[in-house]
Amino acid sequence: MPVAEVGDQGMEGRADRPAGTTGSSLAPGRERGTGDGDGGARGSAPLLSASGLCSGYGRVTVLRGVDLAVRAGEFVAVIGANGAGKTTLLRTISGILRPSAGRVVFEGRDLARIPAHRIPALGIAHVPEGRQVFPQLSVRENLLLGAYLRRDRAHREARMAFVLDLFPRLHERLGQAGGTLSGGEQQMLAVGRALMLEPRLLMLDEPSQGLAPRVVGELYGKLGEIHALGTTIVLIEQNLTAALRHAGRAYVLEHGRVVLEGPTAELEGNDEIRRAYLGV
Ligand code: ATP
Repeated sequence: MPVAEVGDQGMEGRADRPAGTTGSSLAPGRERGTGDGDGGARGSAPLLSASGLCSGYGRVTVLRGVDLAVRAGEFVAVIGANGAGKTTLLRTISGILRPSAGRVVFEGRDLARIPAHRIPALGIAHVPEGRQVFPQLSVRENLLLGAYLRRDRAHREARMAFVLDLFPRLHERLGQAGGTLSGGEQQMLAVGRALMLEPRLLMLDEPSQGLAPRVVGELYGKLGEIHALGTTIVLIEQNLTAALRHAGRAYVLEHGRVVLEGPTAELEGNDEIRRAYLGV
């Protein structure tokens, strides 16, 4: 994975927390943010929930009874060491893997009953590990692929304008092949492509992987803007600092189980997290 070298123009780094994620900590299970980023949904049914979720690969069980709940407007991180099951969790939510037990529900629908190819139409976008930008296709073509569900051309173009406004660096490179972008720009393109779907839930698999710290700050600044505009975000991260700094709430996954959950302000410096990461 190329290490990104993104210049100063276009994507402005933002080391501060995204709007709606600052302030004093709240009771466990509540996001620390208030106002716009919360989507006004506190107390209502979660947008996404998993209960007793078990999943894996053939006979290999990875998730061993995961419970989580994400309300509309939240920015939630799932963190954990290598092999904890983070990617497996996102793959199970997006239907690539089927639960062997338990349930995963989005807006009241049991996702296990819905074929994987229909899940994006529900409003769930998944930015996979390693970005998976189409290297030969232009930035514009890559973005349009994200809008494959939108038949209305005017709607697609309006969405494209929104994404390019959010990522001016992509605007400057519309005709350039995706494979020639820096690592950071490719991650922005992968996020932009997911946003073309106009998702209600944006899921990202280790977005900071392989990126220089400054670029990670720029990327998370953008995720903060996307969140502030009302999109619910669930991301998994190995980058503990970035995840705890920018998300409002986090789940700690260890050996396929949630061992800790709470507002990120309360999790920072928690010994349990050190144990989950370092096995100490
Ligand atoms: P990382 O941060 O290293 O990506 P992770 O927390 O995302 O880790 P997963 O990728 O979900 O972890 O992997 C959890 C376990 O599932 C690991 O033991 C891994 O070896 C195993 N696993 C992952 N993919 C497969 C597969 N296709 N077939 C069999 N086992 C797999």
